[in-house]
Amino acid sequence: MTSTLLPGNIVYGGPITTSEAQDYPSLGQYVLDKYKSFGDQTVMIDAFTNTEYSAKFMYDSIVRLAQILQKLGVKQNDVIGLSSENSINFAIAMFAGFAVGATVAPFNVTYSDREVDHAINLSRPKIIFASKITMDCIVRVAKKNKFVKGIIAISGSTSNLPNLHSLLDLMSNDKYKTKPDFTSPQANKADDVALIVCSSGTTGLPKGVQLTQFNLLATFDSQIQPTMIPFSEITLLTVIPWFHAYGCLTMITTATLGTRLVYLPKFEEKLFLSAIEKYRVMMAIMVPPLMVFLAKHPIVDKYDLSSLMVLLCGAAPLSRETEDQIKERIGVPFIRQGYGLSEVTMSVLVQTDEYCKPGSVGVLKVGIYAKVVDPDTGKILGANERGELCFKGDGIMKGYIGDTKSTQTAIKDGWLHTGDIGYYDDSFEFFIVDRIKELIKYKGFQVPPAEIEALLLTHEKIKDAAVIGKPDEEAGELPMAFVVKQANVELTTGDVISFVHDHASPAKRLRGGVIFVEEIPKNPSGKILRRVLREMLKKQKSKL
Ligand code: AMP
Repeated sequence: MTSTLLPGNIVYGGPITTSEAQDYPSLGQYVLDKYKSFGDQTVMIDAFTNTEYSAKFMYDSIVRLAQILQKLGVKQNDVIGLSSENSINFAIAMFAGFAVGATVAPFNVTYSDREVDHAINLSRPKIIFASKITMDCIVRVAKKNKFVKGIIAISGSTSNLPNLHSLLDLMSNDKYKTKPDFTSPQANKADDVALIVCSSGTTGLPKGVQLTQFNLLATFDSQIQPTMIPFSEITLLTVIPWFHAYGCLTMITTATLGTRLVYLPKFEEKLFLSAIEKYRVMMAIMVPPLMVFLAKHPIVDKYDLSSLMVLLCGAAPLSRETEDQIKERIGVPFIRQGYGLSEVTMSVLVQTDEYCKPGSVGVLKVGIYAKVVDPDTGKILGANERGELCFKGDGIMKGYIGDTKSTQTAIKDGWLHTGDIGYYDDSFEFFIVDRIKELIKYKGFQVPPAEIEALLLTHEKIKDAAVIGKPDEEAGELPMAFVVKQANVELTTGDVISFVHDHASPAKRLRGGVIFVEEIPKNPSGKILRRVLREMLKKQKSKL
């Protein structure tokens, strides 16, 4: 990948050399044809149950479920919700959704009722697949939202609530006569939405990022690069949740490449390490907290991790020390950072063998344009000048569902404004140095401060609140709150922490603590001055 500088300080990653995927009539057909072509090859391995699945099994299951979904009334461009930990049925449900031309909306499995309610009101799914761990919450929330016409239990059987099906029963029920092959409906690829994932963007509450079929197909094309080892001989491990854009898109992309994908439903130390050892894993999809685990945890030494050749790390900044420690401890030859966001369909920057300076997030992927903009003046900056990173390319989302205003703020003239501050050096290698958007990243998960602030303001004893991220070596950032109490009330920091604990998913808990203040610093138009709060935090720390 060689970047070039175009007039006006625009950096370009070079052309995509194939249009194989983009030329397909639909995303669903592409996935089906890929699986068909891989035949008996093992493409998925559940390292929790030690079960291997062939491409033929995937093809047959997707084809059958797609026809059953149609019989249940799912049509092209309907939305299917998916609330499950990583499992074979998650993948089958997602690909069957694509096969019928539907939009798939995955939901975070740790979401509280309030969060699920917000998410499903963005995407408005007709049917929701739910696993054992999310079923009760999905049933409760679906009852309140009449647009949900049915729920399918992804694992186990169901109670006899009306409109509640079990995937197992559906797939084995002779009542549903299906054919051995299936043709996906022709899509309007640039417009038909394949995925809706949650992201708060640069400000406010979580929004529904719409990624089109074209966004995904073009991203597949950008991944088809000559490799030293054929994709089918690569064993790749992922434990990143598939409900998150990073986990979901890496799973879908590797599926279309025929890679042997070893997955786990969630991170568990021994299982993660034994999966690497047992399946001789060559590559792993990582986030910085997992990297810290590999670098520091004593248990790591008990396992043979010598098969590991490449660790791909994204979603949050990775420190150079951690990278060095892993190289020294395990001897992994290649650690490659990447940078992306939900709004760009996976990633726009990746390190390569040639461009992998410590601390960098790499160079532009093919097909991507970048510019660095001075956030105050709007001037496009040159090499080694810090500003907001903006990207253009085939993966840029269609927009936030039902939110034209936020879409117009995020995408101007086709350029996505990321809210991240960075620069590129003389060899066009990029570095992320700061974030101007209102976002906290806890272990790679999005924590939108505005959401926790709105939640805190519903507490009768809280007059005002502001939330920021407190730097933390392992998690990246820990959400912490500055709180103004109502007059003459008793309220402890523990009360505030418990309140958030009870009403929000685990990533949003106030692990960084609570500080009571007299007033939240704001500018004349009422915007919270987070920079001032960060300074206050720094001063407080230095006093300790
Ligand atoms: P998400 O949409 O949840 O994937 O979050 C995207 C955001 O995560 C980006 O806008 C960055 O703020 C942050 N991010 C992703 N990858 C990196 C990276 N390699 N280094 C630093 N920050 C990153």
